[in-house]
Amino acid sequence: MPGCAVEVSLTVITIIKFRFSFIILLRTIMMNMQSLVLAVEEYTRQRLSRYIGELSEICSIDSYSFHKPGLDEMASWLALRMHSLGIEATIIEREAWGNDILSVVQGEGEGNVLLVGHTDTVYPVGTAAARPVRMEGDMLYGPGASDMKGCILSAIYAIEAMLALGYRSSFREIRLLCVSDEEITTRHCLDLMERASLGSDGALILEAARDNGDIVSARKGNARYMLTAHGRSAHAGVEPEKGRNAILELAHQILQFQSLNGWREGVTINPGFFAGGTLPNVVPDLAQVQFDIRYLHSQDRIDTEMQWRKIMQHQRVPGVELTLEVEPDFKGPMVFTPESFKLVHTAQDIAGLLGFSVNHVLTGGSSDGSYTSAFGIPTLDGLGPVGGLDHSPNEYLVVSSIAPRTALLGGLIASIGTHSFA
Ligand SMILES: [Zn+2]
Repeated sequence: MPGCAVEVSLTVITIIKFRFSFIILLRTIMMNMQSLVLAVEEYTRQRLSRYIGELSEICSIDSYSFHKPGLDEMASWLALRMHSLGIEATIIEREAWGNDILSVVQGEGEGNVLLVGHTDTVYPVGTAAARPVRMEGDMLYGPGASDMKGCILSAIYAIEAMLALGYRSSFREIRLLCVSDEEITTRHCLDLMERASLGSDGALILEAARDNGDIVSARKGNARYMLTAHGRSAHAGVEPEKGRNAILELAHQILQFQSLNGWREGVTINPGFFAGGTLPNVVPDLAQVQFDIRYLHSQDRIDTEMQWRKIMQHQRVPGVELTLEVEPDFKGPMVFTPESFKLVHTAQDIAGLLGFSVNHVLTGGSSDGSYTSAFGIPTLDGLGPVGGLDHSPNEYLVVSSIAPRTALLGGLIASIGTHSFA
């Protein structure tokens, strides 16, 4: 029995020792993390005017999603910038679309980190000249400043700082993928994104942090549907009874489908485009309506469509033929998983080391985080500096957020790269 007591107390001592060394290990990790993020923050802060000069330069390039010359110029600019850091950068040439670019930074650590950005903007050619970058107090305005040239630049500064400060051991590989087709639904880069995702331990999406500083832990999926009604035309005054009014039927169908709004948590339905008919004195034989649907889980889209097809059978105008088509290339949701929850916690811990707090949100807007999430990679988004009013003439980036958010990104890279996010 005494031997047993000794064994028990030895076990207790072992547990205490283990706990103690675990706490020390955690503390060491956090101390290393603190010195890393503070150093990255300081490095970026000291180079803020260079950053602003570079951002002004790339915002002066029109890179509308359909403007290949501008997108190619963006890819070349980024390739040069990466090469100047001694980083391998490959331009993926596209015939009809803008070129994409994948940079790979080799480290000496354990984990692979995927950073995803996009070089395209929503602004037509000529916007860059009409609206050059301007500063007002803490705000920097310019086309693509927040969505997302400033955020790509922030990722480059995080990488530059980590290399310059000797943190190559905090990752095995950083892959920075910048695609040229994020703002449109016709995607050409999905296979590239899948290839870049292979073997990645975490994906950090470089969309700007929300205007209140929140990062994004989940995004809804987004699909578009076209409902077409084929009726029969007739003279509206002489023999309207011979007609089959396609507009009337669609008006009825819109209201019916709209009733499914929110039928499952997170499902929203928006009829956003309508066309049909020719003249007021003609019973219209053709009408179309396009819907935008958002949802939390892929199954919600499938179930919503099933419900929709059922209620579609209740028609207002007999004889009108209805066709429902889903547009290809719809985005699935960026789902909030236990792994992304861990990343959120890590981000919050790192922000704490930098002296600020950060919340995470679910948003209905989509990003390429939906794809990395669908590939099964823990994904976090909204990791650029704070910005807002995207897709508008007042798009802005908050200058004072550049250095701390670059440091947060650097810290997250290191957490994934050392498998220490918890
Ligand atoms: Zn955008």
